[in-house]
Amino acid sequence: MPNIQGVYAREILDSRGLPTIECTLWLDTGGIVLTSVPAGTSVGKYEAHELRDKDPNRMIGMGVLQAVNNINTIIAPQLVGKDPTQQAEIDQLLIALDGTPDKSKLGANAILAVSQAVCKAGALTNNVALYYYIFNKFQLAQELIIPTNIFTVINGGEHGADNLDLQEFQLLPASHISFPDSLSMAVTLYQKLEEVLILKGAIHSVGLVGGFTPNLYSNSDVFDILVETIKSSQYTLAQDLFFGIDAAADEFHSAGKYTLRDRSQPYSSNELIEYYRKIRSLYNVFYVEDPFSDDDLGAWATITEYLGDTTKIVGDSLLVTSQEKVKEAIEKKYCNTLLVKPNQVGTITETIAVISLARQAGWSIVVSHRSGETNDDFIADFAVGVGAEYTKFGPPNRGERTAKYNRLSQIHQEIEMSRQQQAAAPQQAQS
Ligand code: PEP
Ligand code: MG
Repeated sequence: MPNIQGVYAREILDSRGLPTIECTLWLDTGGIVLTSVPAGTSVGKYEAHELRDKDPNRMIGMGVLQAVNNINTIIAPQLVGKDPTQQAEIDQLLIALDGTPDKSKLGANAILAVSQAVCKAGALTNNVALYYYIFNKFQLAQELIIPTNIFTVINGGEHGADNLDLQEFQLLPASHISFPDSLSMAVTLYQKLEEVLILKGAIHSVGLVGGFTPNLYSNSDVFDILVETIKSSQYTLAQDLFFGIDAAADEFHSAGKYTLRDRSQPYSSNELIEYYRKIRSLYNVFYVEDPFSDDDLGAWATITEYLGDTTKIVGDSLLVTSQEKVKEAIEKKYCNTLLVKPNQVGTITETIAVISLARQAGWSIVVSHRSGETNDDFIADFAVGVGAEYTKFGPPNRGERTAKYNRLSQIHQEIEMSRQQQAAAPQQAQS
């Protein structure tokens, strides 16, 4: 069995132009893998700790040299000679080396970079594609399927230009639509949306994840623009696609109230539930991520009770990919869908455990990018391998986002070819 011969990390820049970590791992067979980790902007307060240098004279304090050094001097020597297919054992070692509950000593960014590299090296060792390795190793999915992609086409909140309060306005292709057709729909609508925004004299520059950041009067105006865009295309709302939002409500919550530019008075939790109910019935918004602040737990339970039968109520900042948080949310019925971001928890093994918990509760799984991404397409393979129902990789725009869609295209082709070969095999045997 090939063993790990070395691990080496460095500081690189993410899609926001801020530092993150890239890690190279090489095997004694000569095989090499390279991976890098993303970083968030609207970071949940219970996420594992991202170690930053905080040196104001360098990279505006956002440097990750300390985390890189932790990989190169503390973690790397411990991994030499280890079998990369032993993901759980290596992740346990990383957790023990750190020794803190939030991975603040070595940094969750340092730990995840190594954990991801080990996962890629496991696939290389087995000589199989990464998605297949994850599928086969963790047994979380029945079959290999490309998830439904949630396309964020408008950015607001922390990802936008201070024009809109809700962070993401999304297009959700109907689940029966194939991956190539849904990608074609997203490309068509994204390009048409730009035309509509230009016609209206609205700003059409893009935000952190590549969605447009228009200057509109209210959050609900966005849906009118999206409806107009869809009408100018060959697609039909509520048949070919639906809408979704990531409210990221923590960002517009203060002193128990939620401030949206849709009206002059701030909203109470109950009024905000009514707002979500209204946009759901008016505009077919069937995916609502982080509708309330992480601590407004009563409101989470109420919205899930009222809308959960027909709507994905999605926990991102609420759950921070944490087993403890997901257990509590299942028990108290705070939501019905898990958003997965491996860097919120810090290791692949822990991420897999959280997905497994959510699966047992019958929840849907969304594998998500971060706003600060790299060109690494690890999460595309990961999403297919764990059998996620959805991915959230942004719109079909910006290299770090399209890298994930392009990887899904490769995986889609491989899966289709292997199905065709399997279907042809018995006929070949007969002839
Ligand atoms: C999100 O909130 O879902 C998101 C991708 O944002 P960030 O990466 O900035 O936390
Ligand atoms: Mg979110």
